[in-house]
Amino acid sequence: MTLAVMLLAGCNEQAVPPKEFDGATALSYVQAQLAFGPRIPGTPGHERMAAWLDSLLRTRADTVIAQRWVHRSAAGDSLSLVNFVARFNPAATTRLLFLAHWDTRPRADGPMSRDSALPVPGANDGGSGVAVLLGMADALKKSAPEIGVDLLFVDGEDYGDFDSDRDVLLGSRYYAAHQAPGPAPRFAILFDMVGDKELQIPQEGYSATGAPDVVELVWSIAARAGHGEVFVREQGITLTDDHIPLQQAGIRAIDVIDFSFGGPDNKWHHTPDDTLDKVSAASLQIVGDVGMAVVRLQKQ
Ligand SMILES: [Zn+2]
Repeated sequence: MTLAVMLLAGCNEQAVPPKEFDGATALSYVQAQLAFGPRIPGTPGHERMAAWLDSLLRTRADTVIAQRWVHRSAAGDSLSLVNFVARFNPAATTRLLFLAHWDTRPRADGPMSRDSALPVPGANDGGSGVAVLLGMADALKKSAPEIGVDLLFVDGEDYGDFDSDRDVLLGSRYYAAHQAPGPAPRFAILFDMVGDKELQIPQEGYSATGAPDVVELVWSIAARAGHGEVFVREQGITLTDDHIPLQQAGIRAIDVIDFSFGGPDNKWHHTPDDTLDKVSAASLQIVGDVGMAVVRLQKQ
């Protein structure tokens, strides 16, 4: 057993800490994002959202790093992209990384979409993960973590085409090559599509194979927090998502994702129907509670 595995296993004995995440506020963060319009790289909504995220994080975190770069797309467009890293307890050597993508998809080109010319509103795909991280930022500002916590908001996840692997996962790829200074995180948790009213989170395939002990830790904490009905102990789909570039960079990263948005056929994914009414404060609350419990139960 490695030291890291022992540290993880030891946490399983401890009681789950009191709840401190506010699901209603998290839902208001989804609403605020939708008010910017689609957050597509190269559009005004994307710029407004970046400015909002930047100012909001600077009033909460100890340090904020904005990573700005220009990506030349397959179509030849120059996209100005930005990742934000909100650091809490930046001097701590034991660190956790939580991430979500903040951009939204330019085209609603999912297989169940009624109009692939429209952009994706991104209440769930984009909005929900950001809302959970922002709710965690609120809780971490109120009560500083014992360990170090980095909240990473990656840009350009959903811009391009996953089949050809072009112009997707841009922010997580950039971060994997330009990590925040200091020690690497003990592990990383990606939140994606975690606001679905009918939330069901099975264990994503690359997470279960790439970081099985982290999956076990998170699902066991969720069960002890009373959320075993949501964090189900089932094998989920295997997905290329922002955890993959981190895994490839040697970070033990998992993807917490509900890829059954609107039912088992995932019918609202990458459609114009990814709207505010499809997500709930209760679902964000569950995921935020689990995220905060993971933070509070990790020791130096
Ligand atoms: Zn997407």
